[in-house]
Amino acid sequence: MKDCIFCKILNKEIPSKFVYEDDYCFAINDINPKAKKHILVIPKEHIESLNSVNDFDIVKKMFEAIKKINKQENISHFKTLINTGSNAGQEVMHLHIHILSD
Ligand code: 5GP
Ligand code: ZN
Repeated sequence: MKDCIFCKILNKEIPSKFVYEDDYCFAINDINPKAKKHILVIPKEHIESLNSVNDFDIVKKMFEAIKKINKQENISHFKTLINTGSNAGQEVMHLHIHILSD
């Protein structure tokens, strides 16, 4: 999707180190971390928000990725967050799950 920051990161138009990648999603460190560890898990398909999800398999894949990322990053106690819609604080209109941990 043109003009989408996360699609540009996926397509390497904006450089960003991938913490994790599989066939369905990838993860990066948040540029403006709100916790000691703040990781974003992002589907490779451009899906605007949780409201736009039709097939919830992708959400399952994202949570499976979270389990692997947490093992890799030594995270066991954490919060997950999905902001949906601008009034709820969604700034990037490409679905993502925040992992927040100290
Ligand atoms: P939202 O508010 O949409 O739930 O979360 C978007 C998150 O993406 C914010 O926490 C913000 O700091 C992060 N973010 C925005 N632009 C970039 C970027 O270019 N690179 C990275 N790594 N994170 C970004
Ligand atoms: Zn996108």
